[in-house]
Parts: sequence; C-alpha cells; structure tokens
Amino acid sequence: MPFQAILYLTILAVATVISIMLAFYTWQHRQTPGAKPFSLMMLALFGWSLTYLIQIISPDLASQALWNKTTYFGVVTTPILWFLFSLEYTERKNWITRTRLIGLFIIPIITILVIWTNDAHHWFWASDGKLVQDGDILLRSAENGFWFWAHSIYSYLFILAGTIMVVRALSHWPSQYRGQMIWILLSVFAPWIFNVIQIFKLLPIVIDLTPFAFTLTGTGMAFALFRHQLLDLAPLAREVIIDGMQDGIIVLDPSDRIVETNKAVHHILNIPENRTLIGKKLADAIIQWPKLVKHSENASKIEDEIALGTGADQNWVGLTSLPLQDKKNNNVGRLIIIRDITSRKKAEEQVRKLSRAVESSPTSIVITGADGNIQYVNPKFTQVTGYTIDEAVGKNSNILKTDQTPVGTHDDLWKTISEGREWSGEFCNRKKSGELYWELASISPIHDEDGNITHYVAVKEDITERKRAQESLIIAYDQALEANRAKSRLLARVSHELRTPLGGILGYAELLRDGMLGEIKEEQKDAAISILQSTEYLTTMVNELLDEAQIQANTTILREKTFSPAILLEHATSGFEIMAEKKGLGFATFIDPNLPENLYGDEHRLRQILINLIGNAIKFTQKGEVRVRLERHTPEHWILQVTDTGMGIANESQTAIFEPFQQVHTHITSENRGIGLGLAITNQLVNLMGGRIMLESHPGQGSSFSVLLPIKLPPQEM
Ligand code: ADP
Repeated sequence: MPFQAILYLTILAVATVISIMLAFYTWQHRQTPGAKPFSLMMLALFGWSLTYLIQIISPDLASQALWNKTTYFGVVTTPILWFLFSLEYTERKNWITRTRLIGLFIIPIITILVIWTNDAHHWFWASDGKLVQDGDILLRSAENGFWFWAHSIYSYLFILAGTIMVVRALSHWPSQYRGQMIWILLSVFAPWIFNVIQIFKLLPIVIDLTPFAFTLTGTGMAFALFRHQLLDLAPLAREVIIDGMQDGIIVLDPSDRIVETNKAVHHILNIPENRTLIGKKLADAIIQWPKLVKHSENASKIEDEIALGTGADQNWVGLTSLPLQDKKNNNVGRLIIIRDITSRKKAEEQVRKLSRAVESSPTSIVITGADGNIQYVNPKFTQVTGYTIDEAVGKNSNILKTDQTPVGTHDDLWKTISEGREWSGEFCNRKKSGELYWELASISPIHDEDGNITHYVAVKEDITERKRAQESLIIAYDQALEANRAKSRLLARVSHELRTPLGGILGYAELLRDGMLGEIKEEQKDAAISILQSTEYLTTMVNELLDEAQIQANTTILREKTFSPAILLEHATSGFEIMAEKKGLGFATFIDPNLPENLYGDEHRLRQILINLIGNAIKFTQKGEVRVRLERHTPEHWILQVTDTGMGIANESQTAIFEPFQQVHTHITSENRGIGLGLAITNQLVNLMGGRIMLESHPGQGSSFSVLLPIKLPPQEM
C-alpha cells in the first residue's frame, strides 16, 4: 500500500484505539468531575475516527457517502460534549440543567436529520459529490450547502467556549506543573492548530484531521484529570494501604483542591462513602466543619483537636496538617491527617471529673504502689498530716505509723489487702508535727488486667474528734451511773431513817385521835385526823422511794412462799370497796375457779402490785366502776387484771407511765396526788417475778392493766 494511505490510516487507527481506550478508562473513573462527559466525548471521537477510516477505505461513491453521513454522529456531538466537559472540569456544573442540555442538542439533531435527508433538499451538501483522487487516496468531495455553515459555526462556538474555560483553569496551576501544562495546553489547542493547517493548506494533507486532533486533546485532558492515578504505579496496593488506615488522610493541591482521601475520612467526618471528595475544594467538600477547613489554610505544621457537633453527638477529631514540599522546597500541597479521638477525649473528661472529686474530697486519699510507697496524696491528706505533696510522694506510707495503733492491726491490714481484699479499720497515726491523731481507713488494692496488685488506694477519715467525743461520752455515762447509784443509796438511807419517826408520828396521832391521851375537843380531833392522813401519805411516799431505791440498787429480794390467791384478793381489796363507794363508784371482784387453790410466790409484793393498780384505778375514775379479776389465762399463766371506766391514758403516754416519776395527768388534786413511782415499781416487780404488764386504755373510756405471771405451784404440790 502506498505510503500516504498507510500514514492516514495509521493516524486514524491510532485515534480510534486511543479514544476507545480513554472512553473505557474514564468511564471507570466517572466519579471524577468531568469524567462522564469526557468519556462520552471519547466515545463520539471513537465513532467519528472509525467511520471516517471506513469511509476512506471504501472504494465507491455510494458507500463513501453512507459512511461520510455516519461520521456526523460523532462530528455533531463532540463539540457539545467538549463544552459540557469543560463546564464540569471548571466547576460550572450547576449551569447544566435538563432544559439547557436538551437545548444544546437541538441543532446537532437537526443537522443529523438534514444530513440524512440531504438528497431531497441539498441543504447540507449542495451536490451529491464525487470521488476525487488525492495522491493515493480516493475521497468523496461535495460542495457545502448553507446548513453545513450553520453547523460549523455552532460547533466552533462550543469548541471555543470550552477551550477558553479550560485554558483559564489551567492558568491557575502552580508553577512546578508548568512542563505538564504546556503539553496539556497544546493538546487543548490541537483541534484549532489542525484546523488552521487545514484551512491554509500548510501541510499537504487532504483528509480531515479533526478527530485525530480531538484525540490528542482527550489524551492531554485525561492526563490533566487523572494525573495522580495515571502516574501511580500500583494503584491497588496504594488503595489497600491508604483505605485500610485508621487515620483519615486528605491530600490537597496548592489550590486547596482535594487530590486524595481515604475511607477513614468519610468514616471520621461522617460523610457517605459514595460522596466523592476528590477534585473538590476542601472548603466545599467539608463545609460542615469550617474550623477544620480554616486550619488547613495555615502554612506551617499544625496539630489541633477539634470538636465537631455539640452535646451527646459531639465528636472529637485530632488533626495534623503538614505542608508538602518538593525537592526544591516548593509548596506542592498539604497533607491533613485526621483521627477520631472522641473516646480518648471522653476518657480524659472522666479522669478529670474523678480527679476533681478526689482533689476536693473531704477525706484523705492516698495511692501507693504495691510496695507501699506513696505515689499520690490529695490536698486533704496534706491538710491533716502537715506533709506537703512533695514530702509525702516517694516515702513509704509507714511514715505515719505509731505504736499506739492496737497490736496486730497492721499485720491484719497487710494480710487482707495483699490477698486482694478490702480492709477497713482504725489507726493512731502521727502528723509531721508529732501530734497523734486517729483515722478510720478503708484500703483496697487495684489490680492490673492479669490480676496482679499494682496499687493500693486508702481513703481515710480523721476521727480524732469523734473518738474524743466518744470517750467523754463513756466517762459521762459512767459518772451518771455512779451519780444515780449514789442518789439511790442516799434515798434508801433517808427513807429508811424517815420510817421510824413517821411510825412515831402515826402512833401518837392515832392515840390523840382516839382520846387515849385524854379528852380532846372536836377541832383538836380534826387536827389529829389531818396529821394522820398526811403522815399516811408521807409513809406511802417514803415506802415507794425506798422500794424504788432498792430495786434500782438490785437489792430487792422476793420472799416466796405458798399463798392462796383468794386470800390475796381479799386482803388487797379490803378498804377499797369503801373508798369506791365514797366516790360513788361500783367495785367488783372475780376469781377464776380454774386457778389453783394455792400458788407459790411473794404474796406481799403481789398485794403491793394489786393495791397500786386498784388505787390508781379509783384515783383516776370519776364515774362507773372498778373491776378486779384473778384468772387462769393459759395452763402456764395466770393474770391479775384491774379495769376501770376512768379518764384513760393517751397512746403516746402508755410507755412513759412505767418510767419512774412520770405522771400523765397534770391536773393534780389532793385526791390523785402521788409521786409517779407506783407503776414504775409495779413494772419492775412484775419483771422480777418473770411476768409482764400489759395496758389497754382509751382516753375518756377507761384503762385495763393486766399482769401476766407464770403459774408457780407450791413445792409440795409439784
Ligand atoms: P402516781 O399514781 O403516784 O402518780 P403511778 O406510777 O402510779 O404514779 O402512775 C403514773 C401516772 O399514770 C399517774 O400519774 C397517772 O397519770 C397515770 N395512771 C396510772 N393509772 C391510771 C389509771 N388507771 N387511769 C388513768 N391514768 C392512770
């Protein structure tokens, strides 16, 4: 084949192969801005070159005309796709709307229709054309119709617009890319250069080299678009390494455009993985975090921690931003490394809170190593002991130790904590000043992951004051007890001494009243009766005081013997019947036939109990009746019960009345006067007998005192 034909065919074949390869390659990287229209443009060029190639090798006019028409599918779309690519590449993608897109393709579509119907109207080609021999090549040639010019102007306008946009964008490239840039610019201008060559017939070439020129443009632009990916030798390995990193990596070119990121960036900044960041300006890509962007603008190396978001959703990002420089120290971009430090930040905050608590704790806190050497003390410790932090840290915790702490305490402590358990107890320690103090300590071991003890934490409270207070309380208590005993002894002696003269007064007053010492007048008799009554009251009082004092001194002895409950009842109630009658009260007694005829016990004290209860019942009852019952309660127990219909006792006073000197009813008359010892003595006697006293009372309705006692049978009857 002749040389010229080989040359033309080779040129077109190269253009065909390159364009289809680029179409494929860029389609695979269609995420990159501009890549989609670019890929389609390369496809159009592929179609154009291929059909042109076929046209040239077609031998006759008819088939040349057919393939010539076919080339126009590529011819009309290439300028528009170039224009669209330029828009996207220069970040004017927003301009492309649906309507505009359709609008752009109206003329090309009309052109295609005109071409395919040219035989009918000859608008595109004025004639059918003929085959012209040019050197070794036969090529169809036809005169141009008016639509040819319309189509040409339309196409050149878009090629021009695209070229201008791209050239302007490239002019912003940093200087160190100048070498590459010249080649890329040449490629961009290739279609124009070839057109000029063609128009002015500067080279002896007949075929239209435009598809070839555009293929050159494509190659140049592909290089501009994918320079880092194209240049990379092992893209897969790189992706595996960088995407597998925990840290996020953002590489910026000098104009702050992102040329590289990895998966971690999406993850850390919470950007969906399908959102491409590459090719975008940093400020546009990571618009949510202006502070992050702001940092990257600074020239030198920066390390910072940035909070993203607020409240519970707050994330922390640690950021390192480094300028990237080539061998000649030119700034070629910037590397930003980001990492999620949220959990570390949270842990730090936790530690801050805890140490704040420890620092401001009102108790001393000491942390020692496993050897007992102090590693940390809180301010309270320094305040209590007088040792400063520097003085304490490094010393052994036994600097405080004294021999005042009970023997064995320290041994027990070490044994317990070295076994991994918590110990608590008291120490007597020495301050720096030498002063002793007591503390209540709780010491627990801290284990590492393997269970080895690494530290001990002691939480200690100064209890010196408390101890002192306790000691004085014990002393005071002992003193009070002693005073009480002294008082009881005094009372016993005084009462005992009073009884003899009282007996004398009583005897002589009776003699006077009964006229044994000679005739007396009525007034004198009344006076004698008064003396008698007062002396009787005094005697009761003295007796009660003596009883109480004896009980308190634990010197009361029960004199037990056989007695008859019936006789007990009779003796205890004698005189009360008349007293009740005088007050207009009913008085009834009852004895349970089931009670044993004879019991064993201190009859005298039992009578005292009954007299007390019956006396109170009559004293505190104004109307109604008083009933006394002796009854077998259970096979083992019997009961002495005194019930009245008197004023009753409020719930809250029902325990108090059994305490010495407690009186509930403040309204004291000559009739109900007393000193508040009766029930206290009764209660204590009942306890002494192994029994129990029970009270049921309702204010305004009456009271019922029940004395429950174990049944004790006389020895001979057992
Ligand atoms: P005293 O009778 O000497 O005051 P007591 O120890 O016998 O002392 O009684 C204590 C108080 O209990 C009495 O002052 C009275 O207020 C109350 N009290 C005792 N028995 C009765 C009763 N049957 N009804 C109402 N109040 C009673």
